[in-house]
Amino acid sequence: MSALKPAELLHEGKAKKVFRTNCPGVVAVQYKDDATAFNAQKKAQLAGKGLLNWEISARLFEALEADGIASHYLGCLAPGWMAVKEVAIVPVEVVLRNRAAGSLCRQLPITPGTVLEPALLDLYYKDDELGDPLLTEARLKLLGLLTPQDRSELERLARAVNAALQKRLEVIDIELVDFKLEFGRSSGGELLLADEISPDTCRLWNTSSAEADGEERILDKDRFRKDLGGVVEAYGEVLKRVQGMGPAPRQYQ
Ligand code: UDP
Repeated sequence: MSALKPAELLHEGKAKKVFRTNCPGVVAVQYKDDATAFNAQKKAQLAGKGLLNWEISARLFEALEADGIASHYLGCLAPGWMAVKEVAIVPVEVVLRNRAAGSLCRQLPITPGTVLEPALLDLYYKDDELGDPLLTEARLKLLGLLTPQDRSELERLARAVNAALQKRLEVIDIELVDFKLEFGRSSGGELLLADEISPDTCRLWNTSSAEADGEERILDKDRFRKDLGGVVEAYGEVLKRVQGMGPAPRQYQ
C-alpha cells in the first residue's frame, strides 16, 4: 500500500467499496468478489473476480488515458485497490451498443447479434430501486439531470471511449459488443469517466474462439447471467490478453 491510507467507508455498491483517504479529493476503491445480475435479483460470490476486474479496469483506464481520455483513475494502491479522484457521480448510465444483446433484444424486435452502425447510445437513470429506467430526451429534461452541453460532452466522451476500446480490444481478439459507462463531476466541475471498465460492465466476445457463433465465445458477465459456468476463467482470459497491451498498472504515489 502506498502512503495513501484508506479511512472510513463512504459508499458500498454492488461490486466495489469506496473509502475516504488521508488525502483530500482522493478516494480509495476496493473491488469486491460479489457478482450480481438482473438488478441484484441474482447474487453470488466469485472468488478472484474483484482482483481480475481491478487489474482489467486499471489497465483499461491507463490505455484510455494514453488515448487522450481522462478518467477519475489515479493509480493502484495494492492488489484489488485503486486511488481515484473524488467525483460526484452523475446518476445517468451511458450504454453503447455495437451489436444488439441483452435488454435491447428483450425490449425491441431485434435479433441478438445484429450489428448496430453507428453504435446505439442509450441513457438510463441510475436507480436500482426503479430498475435503471431508460431515459428519453423529455425525461432527462423533466428531471433536470444534464444540461444540453453536459449531455453532448458525455455522449462525445462515450463515443470516444467506444472507438478507443474497440481498437485496443480488436488487437487482442476481443470484440466489444456493448458496455456501460458512468461519469462523475470533479470538484473543478470537469466531467470525468468514472466507475469501472471490466467484464462486469462490458459484453466481450472472443473472436479467436473455435466456436465463433456459440456461447463459448462469451468472456463477460453473460456467463453468470446465463449460468454458463467458467465466469472467473473467462475474466482471467480477458486479463491475460489485456496484460499483453503493456506494463503493469502504475502505483499511486
Ligand atoms: N450494464 C451494466 N450495468 C447495468 C446495466 C447494464 O454494467 O446496470 C452493462 C451490461 O453488462 C452490458 C451493457 O451495459 O454490457 C448493456 O446492458 P443491457 O442494457 O443489455 O442490460 P442487461 O440485459 O445486460 O441487464
